[in-house]
Amino acid sequence: MKVVEKLDELRRVCEDLARPLGLVPTMGFLHEGHLSLVRRAREECPSVAVSIFVNPAQFSPQEDLAAYPRDLGRDLALLEREEIEVVWTPRLEDVYPPGFQTWVTVEGSTRPLEGAHRPGHFRGVTTVVAKLFHTFQPQKAYFGQKDAQQAAVVRRMTADLDFAVEVVVCPTVREPDGLAMSSRNVYLTPEQRQAAPVLHRALAAAAEAFHVGERDADGLRRRMAGVLAGVPLARPQYVSAADPDTLEELHGRVERALLSMAVFVGETRLIDNVVVEESMSRRVEE
Ligand code: AMP
Repeated sequence: MKVVEKLDELRRVCEDLARPLGLVPTMGFLHEGHLSLVRRAREECPSVAVSIFVNPAQFSPQEDLAAYPRDLGRDLALLEREEIEVVWTPRLEDVYPPGFQTWVTVEGSTRPLEGAHRPGHFRGVTTVVAKLFHTFQPQKAYFGQKDAQQAAVVRRMTADLDFAVEVVVCPTVREPDGLAMSSRNVYLTPEQRQAAPVLHRALAAAAEAFHVGERDADGLRRRMAGVLAGVPLARPQYVSAADPDTLEELHGRVERALLSMAVFVGETRLIDNVVVEESMSRRVEE
């Protein structure tokens, strides 16, 4: 496994990689969620590359950039075991050269949900992902359903800018009690950690309601909000039933929905989601 810092060296390494190449972009502090993406890439591609870069541009000023957990030594040891070809650990100036002023912006699908509460977040994400796609020229890129809007926005950008990359979205990996794995879970105190699975319980309750016939978008949102209200430590920022592709909020009868939420548990902002589909319900009911 080559560990590369400088951009020009990365370009040279990429030229020699067997194709198709699978790329897994991360911000490090790796957990089983990240590793599930790496393993899927390993299964599907003769070469696998991982990037580890805590991207300042996707944090707003009041967010946790300085506190964001980092442990490069541990990350590299974990990746070594996955037998991948290359890890890129760029310095800030490898991604943002002096005088940087070029941004990639996706419009409609970045406005609601995370975009409404984290101004500039997706501009940071899409700019870095576009740069990663240019540099690595991967045939496949792996993202987690955990960040459903990010995956949808990256898919949109990939189609709009004609990147010849297949965007593969992998299922959310959870702790045994349902909490979606996240680097930010380390911020939780023991009491907050105990409260945190309420996100998953709220989503599961709404999904269950959907599968037994609740089709009203408001009804689904109410179901989630009701479960969250039972845990005083959980302070919801938004609770949504949206179109899984456009991310627009749904009203009235729904056949397919991305149920999602952002919830503060203490100072830590957690997100989670699940997709419900009528065709899947029918299979379950049969
Ligand atoms: P991050 O390091 O948070 O930027 O995440 C890097 C990639 O890992 C993103 O595509 C995330 O969606 C994905 N990811 C993070 N947590 C999980 C999880 N629990 N299950 C699956 N994928 C995840």
